[in-house]
Amino acid sequence: MEEAQHIIVIGAGLIGLCTADVLIARGAKVTLVDARSGPCEGTSFSNSGMIHPSQSRSWAPDARETKAAKDAAQVTTALAVRSRALLLDRRKQLGLPKRASGCLQIQPTIEAARQFQAVQTDMGVRTDIVMHPVESFGLPACRFPDDSSGDARAFGFALADDLAARGARFVYDAEGLNIRRTDDGFAIKAAGQVISSQHVVVAAGVGSPDILAKLDVRLNLNRVSGAAADFALPEDMEGLPSCPIMDAQSRSALTIFADRLRVSGGWGVTDPTVLIARWTEIAPGLFNRLNDPISTWTGERPMSPVGRPYISGTSLPGLWVNTGHGHMGWTLCAGSGELLAEMVLEGRVDRRFAFAG
Ligand SMILES: Cc1cc2nc3c(=O)[nH]c(=O)nc-3n(C[C@H](O)[C@H](O)[C@H](O)COP(=O)(O)OP(=O)(O)OC[C@H]3O[C@@H](n4cnc5c(N)ncnc54)[C@H](O)[C@@H]3O)c2cc1C
Repeated sequence: MEEAQHIIVIGAGLIGLCTADVLIARGAKVTLVDARSGPCEGTSFSNSGMIHPSQSRSWAPDARETKAAKDAAQVTTALAVRSRALLLDRRKQLGLPKRASGCLQIQPTIEAARQFQAVQTDMGVRTDIVMHPVESFGLPACRFPDDSSGDARAFGFALADDLAARGARFVYDAEGLNIRRTDDGFAIKAAGQVISSQHVVVAAGVGSPDILAKLDVRLNLNRVSGAAADFALPEDMEGLPSCPIMDAQSRSALTIFADRLRVSGGWGVTDPTVLIARWTEIAPGLFNRLNDPISTWTGERPMSPVGRPYISGTSLPGLWVNTGHGHMGWTLCAGSGELLAEMVLEGRVDRRFAFAG
């Protein structure tokens, strides 16, 4: 019997975990290496939970209208639609609770909502205008009925347990890892051990460029910060939204999880109080009923310049990247994992998310 191929995945966030998931499902042996002490401790720690193909356009203000950004949005939407279906199935298999479908997005005016609806319709994204603004705190909004949501970190934990049960090896606390080329692949020195493989997938989020630079491969990736504040649910659940609500102006969202209410997001925001202030303005009746946050968090999104992730080989045979998902990493994780695993194991050729470095 042929021995299973061994593949190293650097990064145990949503992207690395989902890549490992498909690699193992297709017969490979996987070692995941991460600088932190457990899964989803990086950007995947506290996101807004939206599985939203509707938001596939780049958020970079200067990229939105360029041809490159529009092309990127088309291919990213297609991947997001595939990924959403895979992710919802995977969540179900892992026994995670089903959530109400749809996301809303508050727009500054009804005209802005109609304009956004036209753009989305062009991209093939079903978009309605909210006719009962009580759902959006009395403000004009678009509704994306095909979007969904779920707790990304809970998914990451459940998937990491499932991977371990299926034979994945996890090497945590691998801060300051070293990587070098060998005669037949790569050797990684991390957490006091050396691990070798013909194939290495770099899925280390904002840490990816530094790892690739050790092999003289240059990755152009921006870090865009965002923040989150979690609140205990109010005793009186009256008026809580049934699906996540985004605010186009602040690029943030209000999401109700099983045990908490979260405001999160922001473009370049490092202070969660900015988001709390904005949501208190949008929904004063709700925010005045909440106690102080139970926790706050700041993270950085790994963002490619035009919003198209890098899911690709590199100039070095056997070295792969799966990163740059920006504000879309939860939405895209399952589809990106599938795509990269097929490239590595089955030789799939797909240049939509190619990386030139
Ligand atoms: C506030 C906020 C809200 C968001 N909301 C949404 C949303 O609603 N929907 C959506 O689709 N997306 C959302 N996102 C985006 C999404 O969370 C990210 O795209 C996704 O988490 C990125 O996953 P990742 O696996 O690439 O990175 P990470 O989760 O950061 O994983 C990378 C891993 O690599 C490890 N690592 C890094 N460097 C090294 C190194 N040198 N050696 C070893 N290990 C290393 C890190 O420790 C980390 O565990 C949001 C992001 C933010 C910040």
